[in-house]
Amino acid sequence: MTTATAPCPDPVAEHPEPIDGAGYLATLTAIRAMLWDLPPGGSGQTGPQALAAMTVLIELRAMIDHHAAAGAATLDRLGVARDRTGKTAALLMTKGVAPAVAYRWLRIGAAQSQVSRLPGYTADGAISGEHADAILSGITHVERRAPDGLCTQEKAEVERTLIAQAMSGASPVDIGKKARELGNDYAAETGGLPAGEDRTINEFTIGPTTDGRLTVKGDLDTVIGEKLTAAIESLNTPRPEPDGSADARTTGARNADALEAILDAAAVADTSLATPPKVHVDLVLPATTPEKARLLWLGTITPTVTKLLLCDAEIAEVVVDGQTVPLQMGTTRRRFPPHLRRAIIIRDQCCVKCGASAGRTHVHHVQWWSQDGPTDLDNGCLLCPSCHAFIHATDWDIILGADRHPWLIPPAVIDPQRRPLPAYNRRTLTLDDPIAA
Ligand SMILES: [Zn+2]
Ligand SMILES: [Zn+2]
Repeated sequence: MTTATAPCPDPVAEHPEPIDGAGYLATLTAIRAMLWDLPPGGSGQTGPQALAAMTVLIELRAMIDHHAAAGAATLDRLGVARDRTGKTAALLMTKGVAPAVAYRWLRIGAAQSQVSRLPGYTADGAISGEHADAILSGITHVERRAPDGLCTQEKAEVERTLIAQAMSGASPVDIGKKARELGNDYAAETGGLPAGEDRTINEFTIGPTTDGRLTVKGDLDTVIGEKLTAAIESLNTPRPEPDGSADARTTGARNADALEAILDAAAVADTSLATPPKVHVDLVLPATTPEKARLLWLGTITPTVTKLLLCDAEIAEVVVDGQTVPLQMGTTRRRFPPHLRRAIIIRDQCCVKCGASAGRTHVHHVQWWSQDGPTDLDNGCLLCPSCHAFIHATDWDIILGADRHPWLIPPAVIDPQRRPLPAYNRRTLTLDDPIAA
């Protein structure tokens, strides 16, 4: 990947004089008429002329992207699609725009006003729509990695760095990688989470294709990644064909079959609330250096993730010696047995932080298991997987009140007095309530 600083001052972003709708349309129509009358450059060109012409065409394409993004944002703002196709993206698709391009224009159009330099580069045709999209999503990525966001100056610095990447020839993928690097730097400097633990940047998208298939794309934290990998790996083993020859399926096809098996299993799973989510994750703990725990598939994890997994997940702890020879398999003593889980569900009803349904919750050890917290009714509370990860990763605390209900205590940066908040199912209570903690 190349790095460079911006070689010259930023181009001016704004059109010097605003133009009204009729004038804008007339100008675009005139440009189109000129292109209509222009035969494609052909055999009359020399090599240098062909290259120069191509450079101009590439810039024109980027300029069209700039105008189309602004146009898409205007259509959206005016609600033009409301009476036609409902959504602006769908309206653009009826005009023959590919879905990926329609969504990209809308993303760029919506974000233009939040950046200072980029619009000047796209208006000049120096940065394409694909690169602009990568820069904008890169800025969002870095913002999410810093726990308190970015100040205007920091945001401008990130924008400047990513524009410099684009101008030095980096591809959109490289710009994304640079943004991840910057995000990791900001997280390390500002006390944010390492990328592997940061669930706020998780992505998982499914999108239908035009030929009746579905594409799946994801970017997941270590814990979800390990669960998915472990589940796929347990089900994608090659099996011989009926005639005894080797499995004819590709690795990708075997993974897809494994995914279907996971979905089928989930559909018939015991969803009674007393059954905790079953997770089969192997946690490898070196006997002499337990702080260097690692997961079977995704490798080393931090002590925070280790403590989270030890709280309620169905994991197999494997203690190994220096030669990775298993010495002992862990117990499942830390898990809340069904009768305790049922009792806690009766008390908490849902995730105590966000209200997610009880069927999706873990039972969190209020005094952490890793700090010798017991597995009993007064030391468990319901948390959905993302709130569970959040509680372990941040300075939020949970206590059991005198009323034997869990209370959430925000960190001092949110409430300097750290006043307890009731569990989600009891949010109508106030601190003055006589039964409150
Ligand atoms: Zn929750
Ligand atoms: Zn926990």
